[in-house]
Amino acid sequence: MSSKQPVVPMSSPDLTDLEREAVLAVLHTPHLSMGERIREFEEAIRRFTGARFAIGVNSGTAGLHLCIRAAGVQPGDLVLTTPFSFVASTNVILYENAIPVFVDVDPQTGNMDVEQTAQALRDLSEGGKATQRWLPRHLPVSPQRLKAILAVDVFGQPADMDELRHLADQYDLHLIEDACEALGAEYKGRKAGMLGDCGVFAFYPNKQITTGEGGMIVTDDEDAAMLMMALRNQGRAPGDTWLQHTYLGYNYRLDEMSAALGTAQMNRIETLLNKREQVARWYMERLAEIPAVEVPYIAPQTTRSSWFVFVIRLARGINREEVAQRLEEKGIPVRPYFLPIHLQPYLVERFGYQPGDYPVTEDLGARGLALPFSSVMTEEQVETVCRALQSVL
Ligand SMILES: *Cc1c(COP(=O)(O)O)cnc(C)c1O
Repeated sequence: MSSKQPVVPMSSPDLTDLEREAVLAVLHTPHLSMGERIREFEEAIRRFTGARFAIGVNSGTAGLHLCIRAAGVQPGDLVLTTPFSFVASTNVILYENAIPVFVDVDPQTGNMDVEQTAQALRDLSEGGKATQRWLPRHLPVSPQRLKAILAVDVFGQPADMDELRHLADQYDLHLIEDACEALGAEYKGRKAGMLGDCGVFAFYPNKQITTGEGGMIVTDDEDAAMLMMALRNQGRAPGDTWLQHTYLGYNYRLDEMSAALGTAQMNRIETLLNKREQVARWYMERLAEIPAVEVPYIAPQTTRSSWFVFVIRLARGINREEVAQRLEEKGIPVRPYFLPIHLQPYLVERFGYQPGDYPVTEDLGARGLALPFSSVMTEEQVETVCRALQSVL
């Protein structure tokens, strides 16, 4: 494939001397893990979200895994989730040998379809033949209880969490919010991450803020918070010594350099979010002129957008792979977003999923194209991308 050096990067962290100095300052101390910097970073996230507890971890995936553990998910338990996401949201269910029950998504937002979620819960709780529509063809373990809903705020837009909350309460389920793409987003005026029992943010370099690698759990549930704090630190409960381990835990700790970087980024969070919003607006305006392109839909409940990636949908009948290839040749990097989770090879092998099982997810997955996006993009760069897209189409 002939792709030249990108003229615009796919994504880029937004770093200044503030961040560089904050990280360097840590290296002038002997405290590289479990010191003051992580407490500051957790405090910054608590202030921003209003959460009672914030727990720094070394990735968003680790945070989601701890939420699954805190929900008490056992082997064979059923966790309703979306196949239109980054794989981590499903993987954490598989880590506990639980069964992900996929629910297709809303064609506009790409978030979990509430009607179908309600139908799945009705069918699964009744048992019998109706469950077959929802359970995978091959079940590696026999299904146990309905246990949790793990919803994802796709591309930074919150899922319809009030409706999902209502269903979770009705069926006595835990509600986990994967807000790894949604730091700063608001749903009916409330902060993303705070819309379920536990929420998780992630800080990989393409996210709204970065710590290199890192994540943060937010929750108001004290018992869950205490358990998750122990689990991230090798299962040490409060009062345990360094070599006492009450639980089977993990090393999911966030180091001090990463935490210092995170606090420096949080000190600029409004600027970072506003810059991303501005870039998205430039795209929206410019792309409105290209008929074969659908721009992201913002639901009325989304009272503040927080842009993670900028994903357009190409009109049906356009060959996305060819468009992507021609853009790459012009130095414009693009990515298909998302490849449906149920069609990833290991899920096909384990559960027997087939194309056609989740038609909306597959349709969005087949037409979605993430364009270069970051807070440091200029209006000129947006224009360059849009002009290239227009000429290719
Ligand atoms: C980024 C992301 C995660 C977590 O990613 P890490 O790389 O583990 O920090 C989880 N879920 C979604 C939807 C994401 O986009």
